[in-house]
Amino acid sequence: MADNHRKPHAIIIPYPLQGHVNPSVHLAIKLASRGFAVTFINTQSIHHHTVKALDQKPDGDGDGNGSYDIFANVRRSGHDIRYTTVSDGLPVGFDRSLNHDQFMASLLHVFSAHVEEIVGNIVATPGEGADFLIADTFFVWPSKVAEKFGLLYVSFWTEPALVFTLYYHMDLLRINGHFACQDCREDPIDYIPGVPPLQPKDMTSYLQESDTSSTCHQIIFNGFQDVKAADFILCNTVQELEPGTVAALQEQKPFYSIGPVFPEGFTRSDVATSLWPESDCSQWLDTKPPGSVLYVSFGSYAHLSRPDLEEIAHGLLLSKVDFVWVLRTDIVSSEDTDPLPDGFKQELGDRAIIIPWCSQNAVLSHPAIGGFLTHCGWNSILESIWSGVPMLCFPLLTDQFTNRKLVVSDWKIGLNLSDRNKTTREEVANKISQLMSQDSGSKFKNAVEALKTKLEEALMPDGSSTKDLDQFIVDIKDRIH
Ligand code: UDP
Repeated sequence: MADNHRKPHAIIIPYPLQGHVNPSVHLAIKLASRGFAVTFINTQSIHHHTVKALDQKPDGDGDGNGSYDIFANVRRSGHDIRYTTVSDGLPVGFDRSLNHDQFMASLLHVFSAHVEEIVGNIVATPGEGADFLIADTFFVWPSKVAEKFGLLYVSFWTEPALVFTLYYHMDLLRINGHFACQDCREDPIDYIPGVPPLQPKDMTSYLQESDTSSTCHQIIFNGFQDVKAADFILCNTVQELEPGTVAALQEQKPFYSIGPVFPEGFTRSDVATSLWPESDCSQWLDTKPPGSVLYVSFGSYAHLSRPDLEEIAHGLLLSKVDFVWVLRTDIVSSEDTDPLPDGFKQELGDRAIIIPWCSQNAVLSHPAIGGFLTHCGWNSILESIWSGVPMLCFPLLTDQFTNRKLVVSDWKIGLNLSDRNKTTREEVANKISQLMSQDSGSKFKNAVEALKTKLEEALMPDGSSTKDLDQFIVDIKDRIH
């Protein structure tokens, strides 16, 4: 525990995926700006990707000092944030996208030994020490590592509270027969505390799938066992978005809604908010009328099937709407890097730009953007609301189905496409038109603008997320001293 002469010291270890690292960086800055010392630990693989991204930028020199990378935000902030790396158990050059199962298995079985070593070294460094460990809820080891080194365990959940509570109450789903029962039950799940009745199809894919032997399932089962021993839980949500769910969780654990954890200057194109090289499409967007362009992205790691990709591509063509499409080279797989239909790009002319990655926040906040065709990753949803952009939802895996339910059924800020392998080009074109039209789209636009205001208010000095973060700081300092 802290001696009285040094700042309270947090060690932060994000899950090594883009959608988890990004909010963790922002959380580190927030805590450091409130007087904490922070040690941020990335995996060597993520670090390598970031440095490679810097090398590809015009002014990047790859030494970690370029001005556009996400960690530049950390350096610019001038706060007490130290940075180090740890092995995830696999060689840096290993293709984690192609060998996802092996990657997950390494995180499940091997990673904790590396983490123990590095945390042990930090704690044992004379004059250093640490007080608490902030680790992603998906890790299976934090409570044990924290206990071993006398640290408090703060679990960081980067998805909505609704997803957290479904995993947290997995036993209730089992008892009631809704667990691992894809398509076999249609009656609603009406017994999760604080959650209005929910359709089984709205659960995360891992809770629906009947084969529960996968590594991802083991990670979730064990992670949610481990979080029961957490001292505090921080969630990247906003109380006003999910009031009933958050209130019910607060009765069970010290649970704080501190979202959206965005950094200052979040929507500026010179402030990087991601880990990969970002193509700038602002000049092209500047030539387009307000609200006329659809932004299309399926996040950092989900894959589309080739048939779905083709239907979406043809649907975009049919829609006649202009668009920016973030098409990762591994969107179908890292072995099929050119999956667009023949002649697709030629037919587009100036109607669209297709890029491998962008500053999503800069794009979403551009006045030309009028809609977002999204896989419903939680960060993407928060960012879309933040920019007042309604969504067309095409969830692919994990929490994205539950997130879609929030967008479409609860908040009514978007539309739904039919599920994977069922959507057609005609449906895609039709729904894009509905979302983007001044008439049929206005109800979504009005609803998302109202939610945007709630997010902004939550981050004001007396807003709910600011107050929850303040309270967390008071509570953890109480435990440290
Ligand atoms: N993102 C980005 N540029 C892109 C596409 C995505 O910076 O071209 C960022 C996006 O802003 C978000 C993150 O990558 O912060 C994706 O996280 P999300 O939770 O939406 O999806 P995931 O990648 O975890 O499936």
